[in-house]
Amino acid sequence: MSERITDLIHHAYRPPAGFEAVPPGVHKASTVIFPNVAALRARDWRSKAGYTYGLHGTPTTFTLEERIAALEGGRHTVLAPSGLAALALVNLALLREGDELLLPDNVYGPSRDLARSLLDGWGIAHRLYDPLDATGLAAAIGPRTRLLWIEAAGSVTMEFPDVRGLVRVAREHGLTVALDNTWGAGLAFDPFDLGGGLAVDVSMHALTKFPSGGADVLMGSVTTVDPALHERILLAHMRLGLGVGANDAEAILRALPTIELRYDAQDRAARELARWLQTQPAIARVLHPALPGSPGHEHWASLCTRAAGLFSVLFDAAIEPSRVDAFVDALKLFRIGYSWAGPVSLAVPYDLSAMRRDRSALPGTLVRFSIGFEAAGDLRADLAQALDAIG
Ligand SMILES: *Cc1c(COP(=O)(O)O)cnc(C)c1O
Repeated sequence: MSERITDLIHHAYRPPAGFEAVPPGVHKASTVIFPNVAALRARDWRSKAGYTYGLHGTPTTFTLEERIAALEGGRHTVLAPSGLAALALVNLALLREGDELLLPDNVYGPSRDLARSLLDGWGIAHRLYDPLDATGLAAAIGPRTRLLWIEAAGSVTMEFPDVRGLVRVAREHGLTVALDNTWGAGLAFDPFDLGGGLAVDVSMHALTKFPSGGADVLMGSVTTVDPALHERILLAHMRLGLGVGANDAEAILRALPTIELRYDAQDRAARELARWLQTQPAIARVLHPALPGSPGHEHWASLCTRAAGLFSVLFDAAIEPSRVDAFVDALKLFRIGYSWAGPVSLAVPYDLSAMRRDRSALPGTLVRFSIGFEAAGDLRADLAQALDAIG
């Protein structure tokens, strides 16, 4: 007679057959059980036709991978525990000692920090290029340059680059092109079909933002079309042990069906508020790629009709940074915090002098706004009372 604890572990549970439901099931496993030794030996962990070990994927993570690949118009996706981990994965998979990578001058800060610290220490150099000067990119490419990162738009200063122009120059020099597609989210433009036969090679996406939409999950993805490139990323992913939890994958699967509705709602409200801020005397400049006069607006207009609900303002340079801080502190509905695409509107003041080589084109203190799901009229009233408060 077996002990009760053994019966408890070897219970008779079988997943219910014929249980049709709208949401996909949540499957959790560190280990996966094989029917016999031959099956264990025959299993190739790289094939998604079966399961080998939790780290290599479960039905839940494979489902999310397929849906992100579909969203971005790619074929293969791997998931990482954060957007930053996905970004690091691309660099670690594709670069080796002696190689060089190119980052836009306005790149997501932690990406530049990774290049400056760990990558530099491993003998992988980087150069910064002006994202608004596609023709000037060629001058930054050397014999060891392997990888070009593109961000469209830059997530603080909002410049929208000439994506097609950058990809064209990269193609002429045999570079791999990686896009941080968090802003576009697979909705603003198609990274694997940019028109004119142009496409990026790799689309990295912080699922933390629009795919989650809930300000509750950290996750990243790396999507490709080319199977050989996918294999390089998958091997690095396995070697680095970058798994994601089933509950986190489920939270994103649950939110994905509404991504387009959320993206468009935040886009509409953001444009309304950005236009209103353009009329305010304290604001010298509004940086939103969909507004004429914003850096790279013409590139945005040639590639997109949609925009993320994210924009920045430059206060009049005569207004002291401490008064801009007081404005942000006076906001009530806008909360102070990083990230974007969640339900709550957020504001962050940024010190551009710490972020850019040359900031002469962007004088004044910058505040970035991420628009949530509050009524746009209430958000406008909040901005108005905070502007009044600093007089
Ligand atoms: C948030 C963000 C990331 C990193 O995502 P995390 O999940 O927060 O690590 C990368 N790139 C951009 C443009 C982002 O906004």
